[in-house]
Amino acid sequence: MKQVYNWQLNRKMSYPHEEHHPGRQFVFVFNLNRCIGCQTCTMACKSTWTFSKGQEYMWWNNVETKPYGGYPQNWDVKILKMLEETNRGGQKWNGQTFTGKTIFEAAEKNIGSVPQRVLGYLPTDEEWRFPNLYEDSPIHKNGDRNAFHKEGTQLPEHKTWFFYLARLCNHCTYPACLAACPRNAIYKRPEDGVVLVDQSRCRGYRKCVEACPYKKTMYRPSTRVTEKCIACYPRLEGKDPETKGEPMETRCMASCIGQIRLQGLVKIAPDGQWVEDRYHPLYYLVKVAKVALPLYPQFGTEPNGYYMPPRWVPRNFLKQMFGPGVDQAIDAYRVPDRELLAVLQLFRKTNRIITRYEIKEGPKVYETEIDGKPFTLYNDTVIAYNEHGKEIVRTQVEEPFYVRPNIHQNTI
Ligand code: SF4
Ligand code: SF4
Ligand code: SF4
Repeated sequence: MKQVYNWQLNRKMSYPHEEHHPGRQFVFVFNLNRCIGCQTCTMACKSTWTFSKGQEYMWWNNVETKPYGGYPQNWDVKILKMLEETNRGGQKWNGQTFTGKTIFEAAEKNIGSVPQRVLGYLPTDEEWRFPNLYEDSPIHKNGDRNAFHKEGTQLPEHKTWFFYLARLCNHCTYPACLAACPRNAIYKRPEDGVVLVDQSRCRGYRKCVEACPYKKTMYRPSTRVTEKCIACYPRLEGKDPETKGEPMETRCMASCIGQIRLQGLVKIAPDGQWVEDRYHPLYYLVKVAKVALPLYPQFGTEPNGYYMPPRWVPRNFLKQMFGPGVDQAIDAYRVPDRELLAVLQLFRKTNRIITRYEIKEGPKVYETEIDGKPFTLYNDTVIAYNEHGKEIVRTQVEEPFYVRPNIHQNTI
């Protein structure tokens, strides 16, 4: 194993390959406070890439209800349990530094009769089969498996909580799928960090399926090779006729009804650090405002999907899922400052890839207190530019007010 630097863990870690970083990296930010679980993203991906024979149980994008749901079932509970069993009581953070074992380090410790490069497991067919079973559905009165409530039910009032977690491949900096492949069939593109499976090299050994801690590589029995999210790379390359050569956000991002998603490409230095790009919206959200956090950073793959944690969920649960930055991220989101409020308006205002924003200050609208802290709302305008410096969208903090002319009234 080589030693590579993982900035999400604030330390070096073991990885089977030397460090090589792309010039730019595919990155997305999801605001989980806004996901309504409508599955439009899921269907946008399915109807584009996985509608064929052998892909029936393949959901490159899925949305699961936490804490109960998972696709494949219990994927995160299982891998967390395996890590805990390998390193009992040691899966901890010391400040911003992860002192436990990643899936690569746990595999080193776990060497048995057959050495593994990555700690993982192969989900069963049944675990893949029901992407949302029992999540939002009333089950049979006695909780019988595979039986639905016959009369329907009225939901009780309760103090419990849940949230929707939308997921796709994280196009990791240190992909576990790539590390585990004995055929070197998986590669990371130098131009955008997208992780792809070379279908001509893959022999369907499913080592990647076993290794990916997020379970985002999927075996296709009809072709006997593995497939995964391709980050809609023709759109990233500007090959969609709609944009005439301009890069465009992916299908699942562009279709998001809840407007929770923002996706783009961030510049990466040769040492793997994000190049400072102060007015890039993704750089701002992840590195400056620190409101968006990686999913299970302790796995060690340095995932490039970032989440704004849901503010109503118990902090211990969130800290296990998103690491030590949760308190800071929720505080920043609950009482957003002027710049954050403006940048949040950019989510889903365009399907073009934004590389820079600018804020033009507007008038004060009102002031109040939130959590005992002063909060002031300004009706600022935020302007987004593409990589050539061309304006692609402008919007403002206050929703514009439209009055429908008389001619259209009562015509529904
Ligand atoms: S999420 Fe899984 S499939 Fe995607 S790059 Fe990371 S390890 Fe590979
Ligand atoms: S980026 Fe494209 S391929 Fe990947 S999950 Fe979204 S729609 Fe599917
Ligand atoms: S389309 Fe957006 S709001 Fe709907 S489930 Fe997907 S991520 Fe959530």
